Amino acid sequence: MSSVEEFRTEVRSWLHDNLTGEFAALRGRGGPGREHEAFAERLAWERHMAAAGWTCVGWPAEYGGRGATLEQQVAFHEEYALADAPARVGHIGEQLLGPTLIAFGTPEQRDRFLPRIVAVEELWCQGYSEPDAGSDLANVRTRAELHGDEWVVTGQKIWTSLAHESDWCFVVARTEPGSTRHRGLSYLLVPLDQPGVEVRPITQLTGTSEFNEVFFDGARTQASDIVGAPGEGWKVAMATLGFERGVSTLGQQVGFRRELESVIELAKRNGAAEDPLIRDRIAQAWIGLEIIRGNALRMLDGVAAGAPGPEASIGKIFWATWHRELGELAMDVCGAGGMLAAGEPYDLTDWQRLFLFSRSDTIYAGSNEIQRTVIAERVLGLPKEVRP
Ligand SMILES: Cc1cc2nc3c(=O)[nH]c(=O)nc-3n(C[C@H](O)[C@H](O)[C@H](O)COP(=O)(O)OP(=O)(O)OC[C@H]3O[C@@H](n4cnc5c(N)ncnc54)[C@H](O)[C@@H]3O)c2cc1C
Repeated sequence: MSSVEEFRTEVRSWLHDNLTGEFAALRGRGGPGREHEAFAERLAWERHMAAAGWTCVGWPAEYGGRGATLEQQVAFHEEYALADAPARVGHIGEQLLGPTLIAFGTPEQRDRFLPRIVAVEELWCQGYSEPDAGSDLANVRTRAELHGDEWVVTGQKIWTSLAHESDWCFVVARTEPGSTRHRGLSYLLVPLDQPGVEVRPITQLTGTSEFNEVFFDGARTQASDIVGAPGEGWKVAMATLGFERGVSTLGQQVGFRRELESVIELAKRNGAAEDPLIRDRIAQAWIGLEIIRGNALRMLDGVAAGAPGPEASIGKIFWATWHRELGELAMDVCGAGGMLAAGEPYDLTDWQRLFLFSRSDTIYAGSNEIQRTVIAERVLGLPKEVRP
């Protein structure tokens, strides 16, 4: 048996043996549009995983990971999704901040923060977007000034996923007064549990609140809690975005396949599968999923070679658009009844939630339009877009 197959078997049997007892009820809980589900219990589960060494498996062993190869990490995420294990709560620290600190952090920062991400003792959120800085992230206005041995942060972030559950936020802030665009920005690590921080949940289409407004009003963090040099946060922030499109996308596809299967099941059951147009769209969706898998594997080859290339943008546009269309297909398969909530407590069905949440897929982590601009400029060599 290859080392990948051995690893896969180990993951599978650990999940089989441990998703039992108090954790059995967590199968399928959480995830996009459902992050509020059993959050405390999912945190306990993830700490249980940590105690057995199953968090941060792709990190080098010296930082508390398992040093799993790319193929092993893919196997881990696939098995995790196949076991219907609960959606992760520490993924922003594990997949975004941790790799950033490993690449750009000081030894002291790694010692201070990485073990608590591995142990799921501290949860992180990403403070990039602002009301006037989303696609145009370089327009960040949140500012930070060094007062003695502390940064003092003032400004507003928005759409900050899971800020209401997080202990820390990595914040892109302007530290050089008068600077513009991507110059003069810094990447700061800011604790959220302090008087200068207010987190206000935003209600989403799904009726739940997974993201938030975060207000910094004289919030403080130590002078040493800056990643990279002052004024050079843009480079660090872009590296974090690169890590965002990692191997977990292959686990995500197992989830997509499940959703498609449930739509197919429903279509067979309620007769929608006899409609030639629905049949055609179902077949298209299946083909699309195969293409997503091919794209993801190509992208991971690029990651293994050092950096995700344009495949990352192709992959992002393709899976986001595919998933949004799957939500529309689910609604059409449901028929007119799909527009109604079944009755008290007016919970959404999985298909309704899929439809509503997937509207955001083509926006976050870079909208479709922005991905196409990346391809136009960096791959096709078209002139840079004109900016006002
Ligand atoms: C579910 C979800 C979770 C999120 N989580 C986080 C988080 O944890 N942390 C965080 O910092 N942010 C988060 N975001 C924010 C996300 O990164 C932004 O929504 C995204 O970058 C788009 O920015 P915006 O919302 O300001 O829209 P805008 O940038 O105002 O864009 C509006 C529309 O204009 C288009 N557009 C903008 N500029 C151009 C251009 N130059 N050319 C062509 N079209 C253009 C866009 O494609 C879009 O259709 C999240 C968003 C969502 C939906």
